[in-house]
Amino acid sequence: MTVLASLLFSISFALVASAATDPGYNCRPGQKCWPSWDEWQHFNASIDGHLYETIPIAASCYKSSPHYDEAACQVVEGYYSNSIPRGTHYGQAYWLNWETCGDSGCALLEPNPAETLYGNCSLGRLASYYVDVRTTSHISAALQFATAHNIRISVKNTGHDFFGRSSVPNSLAIWTHNLDTLSFNPNFTAHNCASANGQNVGELGAGVVAGDAYRFFNSHGMDITGGYEQSVGLAGGFGQGGGVGSFTTTYGLMADNAVEFEVVTAGGQVRIINQCNDPELFWAMRGGGGGTFAVLTKYRVQVYPSLPIHVYTFTASFTGVGNHSNATQNVALREIMTAHAENQIGWSAQLVTGQVEYFPGAFTASLVLPYGDDGSKLRSATASFARFLSNRTDLSVTANGYASYANYAAYLTETAAPDAKVTEPAGIFSLLASRLIPRKVFAAPSTIDALVEGVLQGIATSRSFLNLTGTQVVLETPVSNLDRNQTASANPAWRDSLWHVIHVGEWVEPLKADVLQNTTDGFLQMLDPLKELSPGGGAYFNEAHYGEPDWQQTYFGSFYDRLLAVKSKYDPTHLFDCWKCVGWRGEQDPFYSCYREW
Ligand SMILES: Cc1cc2nc3c(=O)[nH]c(=O)nc-3n(C[C@H](O)[C@H](O)[C@H](O)COP(=O)(O)OP(=O)(O)OC[C@H]3O[C@@H](n4cnc5c(N)ncnc54)[C@H](O)[C@@H]3O)c2cc1C
Repeated sequence: MTVLASLLFSISFALVASAATDPGYNCRPGQKCWPSWDEWQHFNASIDGHLYETIPIAASCYKSSPHYDEAACQVVEGYYSNSIPRGTHYGQAYWLNWETCGDSGCALLEPNPAETLYGNCSLGRLASYYVDVRTTSHISAALQFATAHNIRISVKNTGHDFFGRSSVPNSLAIWTHNLDTLSFNPNFTAHNCASANGQNVGELGAGVVAGDAYRFFNSHGMDITGGYEQSVGLAGGFGQGGGVGSFTTTYGLMADNAVEFEVVTAGGQVRIINQCNDPELFWAMRGGGGGTFAVLTKYRVQVYPSLPIHVYTFTASFTGVGNHSNATQNVALREIMTAHAENQIGWSAQLVTGQVEYFPGAFTASLVLPYGDDGSKLRSATASFARFLSNRTDLSVTANGYASYANYAAYLTETAAPDAKVTEPAGIFSLLASRLIPRKVFAAPSTIDALVEGVLQGIATSRSFLNLTGTQVVLETPVSNLDRNQTASANPAWRDSLWHVIHVGEWVEPLKADVLQNTTDGFLQMLDPLKELSPGGGAYFNEAHYGEPDWQQTYFGSFYDRLLAVKSKYDPTHLFDCWKCVGWRGEQDPFYSCYREW
């Protein structure tokens, strides 16, 4: 950007900011407004010593870092790609593009962590300081300190966000990871709200990770509407932005199942919100996104008596087809995806969920049904598809069969835990492009053909940019919960969708700026055929392309204006801000400069 352009940007930002009584929260280290050492110390004492200067997770591996320590480095190298121990550090993000900034960072090469990726260790996008919060009073104090000094706040739980919304450089971070209590109330009494009283309500502290929640509630004979990957924080971005998983077809999104929240609002006030108390704020935090309206400390959610989990798995590679072949030319791939799409309306009617992952040379289907039988319902719902796959002679099959698990925790232990190490290593770079596909597309052969062609083009295009790509067709949509009363604020596009198509690209070392730009643009453009099939539709805020131009419509649909009104009421000075969240300041804000060079 030229100096003139940058000046114009700053002027226009200042104008927008003052018009909205927004002080900008733009004080940065080195400026006069930045608190003195004594002021930081005083603040630290007021929060029981829970303020920390950020140290990146791999600092001990950088010889030029004051934190260099060979023994400590070996420990970090040992778990660098494992998101559970990784998540116990503030100084990391799951995806390196959101931990680092342009050519600065402090990361290791995931396949060989003995190698460092940057010349020196620097904070990248990580906050300058963070508060390891243990009580609501720590959050109130942090918000008041940031307000008094005009400092930017960031809110982080696990750091999994696909838009980097939990990593803001030069900010004071509120880190919720250690708010990790869990409880189960067979008889729940809501706060001042008799209509919200009920049975079987679970309570999660803001930092609880999914695996712990599944195991805890299963030990009480209950299921919670979480996702699949065990290190995602359920009460943070997941449960406030929607939250989809194996129970979504049966019970709806996690946000649909929210009963009550404890939150700290921008002025530092602790509130218990539900359908009677601050109902609009409660509605907004049920799907309108994390990091936007308030800091959530407790999430109370409907849980359900445990169901057995039945799964049909089929994994195969296409005979004679290479990993880099053009997916649009692969007849077997086209026929299988077409059969999948043709079955979709029937599967959804039976609440079959799961996902199918497609690659140029292979695919794997995991069709899942939580249901109280011996697996017969899943077998019957999927029998013709299973026969169709089993009879093909152009596949090299490595898995083909049904399995049943006593409950979700047992399913996870045998599948998600070993899977995570292989399919979703942390500490690498990633890019997503996604679209929710409405039901009507599956109703006619012509639109099914267009859908399959659009997805195949995406598979081919993504592989033309990156070596590590895959396309997940996720069947976890809230087909049995249409939320006609609009009790939750998740993107209305969810209610009508049967597929959540996600093109995923990954890489392990920083890309050159022009390659990165082309790849990012290419991933966005390859959604065009799917957008043509879903005009006025949307994408899942938590798993989408970060560069969507029409982001208000794409991520929030017709709820955007109502969400913005809630934002203006509860956060009028705009203390909370994140990338393409409701009320976002815009990319001209200097705190988003890393997005221009990531
Ligand atoms: C490996 C992997 C698997 C995934 N699988 C699924 C899946 O199966 N289903 C699904 O729906 N999603 C899935 N996701 C996406 C996931 O929902 C998002 O990444 C989500 O943002 C994670 O929330 P977090 O709190 O763990 O992450 P963070 O990055 O810490 O936070 C995400 C956002 O929430 C805000 N936030 C966090 N905590 C709070 C709080 N206490 N109060 C207010 N705001 C807060 C942050 O400021 C940020 O804006 C997956 C992500 C990954 C990386």
